[in-house]
Amino acid sequence: MIARIEVSAQYGMAMKMNIQDQFLPWWEEHEQNYDLLLLDVDGTLVQKHTALPGVEEMLKGLESRGFPWYVLTNDGHRSHDEKSASIAKSGLNVPPSHLVSCADALLDFVRNEELEGQMFFRAGYFGSPDYGESAGLKMTDDTARISECRGFILPESLDRATMPDILFNAFLDNPDRYLIVPNPDSYWPGFQPGEFVLGSAPFARMLQKVLAEKGVRVSPHFLGKPHHGIFDYAIKVAEEHYGMTLGDRYRILMLGDSVHSDIPGAVRGGMDNALLLTGITHEDQLTDLKGDNRPRRVFRRIA
Ligand SMILES: [Mg+2]
Repeated sequence: MIARIEVSAQYGMAMKMNIQDQFLPWWEEHEQNYDLLLLDVDGTLVQKHTALPGVEEMLKGLESRGFPWYVLTNDGHRSHDEKSASIAKSGLNVPPSHLVSCADALLDFVRNEELEGQMFFRAGYFGSPDYGESAGLKMTDDTARISECRGFILPESLDRATMPDILFNAFLDNPDRYLIVPNPDSYWPGFQPGEFVLGSAPFARMLQKVLAEKGVRVSPHFLGKPHHGIFDYAIKVAEEHYGMTLGDRYRILMLGDSVHSDIPGAVRGGMDNALLLTGITHEDQLTDLKGDNRPRRVFRRIA
């Protein structure tokens, strides 16, 4: 009965949501209903470089019980080692082997589209090691070789001084190219309080719009949350890491703070979900959430 009410709420009109206080007691009671816990990073585990209350206890508990968990980040800019080191500044231990980023999903994309060995243009810094090369692509930043490129990959550090005109002209010249944007986030918190950083995804959407005005149709391929690439990849590596088969996706819980990435990603992928109010989503936004953006349950904090 409860499940039916929750499902109808998910597709209903503006509706008040029941907010629970702490995730951890709820999880301890319901862990048996799940096979895998997927966790977001920013606003869920950490806020800047500070661990959120209860997170350390939660991760230690999962480890000690041997319960499968993975961390999903739309940060494609840092390698797993770099991201793990960045999270460690908060005192949390998230080993590189427990991290999956939007850049990892490039590997499956390259394989599915049969792009191995093809040349792509590197439109900014790709981290070390270069994740385009790790995914089996030949990468170049030599503009003289653009005609040889099968497409462009736009990282977070998109070179905004030169790339806009280069991309516009390259797609006008040949629209049959790939436009891959690993991180679909429009923006994220900057270094200063209240400051935000604009991502590459809004730029890709603008490019798509302006090219359409010229009669050229280009669709960016996004890989991070809420798109399926990162989830598919995470499930695959979790199965390998823990030696299990995740048949029923509803036995996977995605816990995150974003109603634009974590929650719709889980809903569209057939996974269960929970929203935390410790990050970018505020309580007053909840009543207006509909469809895929509406979380199944909401918690004020982890513990
Ligand atoms: Mg987040």
